[in-house]
Amino acid sequence: MVSKKLAEGQSSAVIIEKFASFLKEKRKRNTPERYKILDKVLEFSKQFTVEDLSRAMRDDAFLVSRSTLYYTVDLLVEAQILRKINTGGSSIAYERVDQVQHIHLKCEVCGKTKLVRDTAFMAYMNARKFAAFRTRYYNLTVYGTCNDCMRRLKRNRGNNK
Ligand SMILES: [Zn+2]
Repeated sequence: MVSKKLAEGQSSAVIIEKFASFLKEKRKRNTPERYKILDKVLEFSKQFTVEDLSRAMRDDAFLVSRSTLYYTVDLLVEAQILRKINTGGSSIAYERVDQVQHIHLKCEVCGKTKLVRDTAFMAYMNARKFAAFRTRYYNLTVYGTCNDCMRRLKRNRGNNK
């Protein structure tokens, strides 16, 4: 099914190949660290920060310097494998370019972001043309309160009575 394939994005092999030819073209070094970082990046199914990536690498007992992480993520953006997302706050998040755009549900209390798919909305947005404008991608974030925070807030309100 075509839509399933789209939803999952490109295969890791295709992306790794894309990165390899990017490095070659830009005459950048083909270091094992860069591929290890890309492997980790491909495990994220939603947006992530360099901090998240750093934690995931540490969990894997693979230690790389913060500057290597930032530099590699920048290379992945330049190679159009990742894109930067403005999350509204001061932090910068990244997501894979090949993945179908999701709606981000961001909790304003705990800051957690959940991804949801809405096929009807995506179909509408993918077909939407704007006058005198060429869309490259879109990014929709819905702000509100998650269930966990809602419960906690309700409980706290109860205690204050
Ligand atoms: Zn929350």
